[in-house]
Amino acid sequence: MERIYFDHAATTPLDREVFEKMTPYFCDVYGNADSPHALGRKAMAAVDSARDKIAALIHAKNNEIYFTSGGTEADNWALFGGAYAKKAEGKTRVVLSAIEHHAVLSAAERLERDGFEVVYLPVNEQGVVEEDALQNAIDRNTALVALMYANNETGAIQPVQRACALAHERGALFFTDAVQAAPYMRLDVRELGVDMLSFSGHKFYGPKGVGVLYIRGGVKVQKFVGGGEQERGMRGGTVNVPAIVGIAAAYEKAVQNMEQNNEKIRVLVQRFMQELAPLSGVTVNGDRQNALPSVLNLRFDGVENTAFLYAMDLQGVCLAAGSACASASVKPSHVLTAMGLDERQAKESVRFSFGKNNTTEEIVQGARFAVETARRLR
Ligand SMILES: *Cc1c(COP(=O)(O)O)cnc(C)c1O
Repeated sequence: MERIYFDHAATTPLDREVFEKMTPYFCDVYGNADSPHALGRKAMAAVDSARDKIAALIHAKNNEIYFTSGGTEADNWALFGGAYAKKAEGKTRVVLSAIEHHAVLSAAERLERDGFEVVYLPVNEQGVVEEDALQNAIDRNTALVALMYANNETGAIQPVQRACALAHERGALFFTDAVQAAPYMRLDVRELGVDMLSFSGHKFYGPKGVGVLYIRGGVKVQKFVGGGEQERGMRGGTVNVPAIVGIAAAYEKAVQNMEQNNEKIRVLVQRFMQELAPLSGVTVNGDRQNALPSVLNLRFDGVENTAFLYAMDLQGVCLAAGSACASASVKPSHVLTAMGLDERQAKESVRFSFGKNNTTEEIVQGARFAVETARRLR
């Protein structure tokens, strides 16, 4: 059976060109990048060049880029590293949006158990944090504010620049999880003014298990993974050279083709909506105007999403109810409930996330399956 893949917010396939660039670093240039001998130096040269590339693309300096084991580690590092660094100044509040990824939410829960006061920013029905919420939550006692750049369930883009400015006015650090935004929006850390920013390789056709945490020069953040002196003493562990080569190559390609990919996906999504038009009782969850082009969260009245996903999977369509990290749970999405959907509405919602390799045929076929499946299940 031909698979139709509409789950690009969960992960993307590795790009073949990127894969080719990674391969020498598994069996040939296998030196430990921190070894001073020739093979180590060769590995380190590849890591240095990857770091330079990523730094240039987000307008950072190369010593502001730290490689991690993925978005989850980068998010955890930002939360713990930022909160504890500011605790030294006596600040004990952590402010984050209610719609953050579980990587951020679970770190915040841990900080709460450790004695921090955690304040969750509400979102409006479009899934966006509003000015009032920021004004009310961020105070002089705030150590850290975390607001994701774009949400992984709805694609809604958040007011990161504004939130960052407010955080800085009140003496707090600001972190943005840009994992979902990275494939579709230019990241410019200078323009945004953020102290920390994370993204992950496998969301833009790079390898899994590698991510980046940008930490602005001069900002004090505690280390998260202790060990050797890798990553300028800030992140222990033997450097994952092939993955780092891969994330840099994939990110470079994503940035180079961004406009073109976004436009292609926009056209595909429009077509998908057209094909769904004959079906009644379909609502878009969240803001489509100020959103990533790729994510479409739809509610099908009277259709339970787990049954829908199962039926679609049988027809070869790969989809998700929300975050893949939470897909094993039966709980309704925390993002959709934060937007004011009730439990039933949240459980009637499905996330379609499209990618640059989807074809018009897949869009038409996938939409036809969705229409048939929703009708059958009602
Ligand atoms: C996927 C994702 C993560 C986690 O990244 P991993 O590299 O899979 O650990 C974090 N935040 C958001 C918004 C994501 O979509």
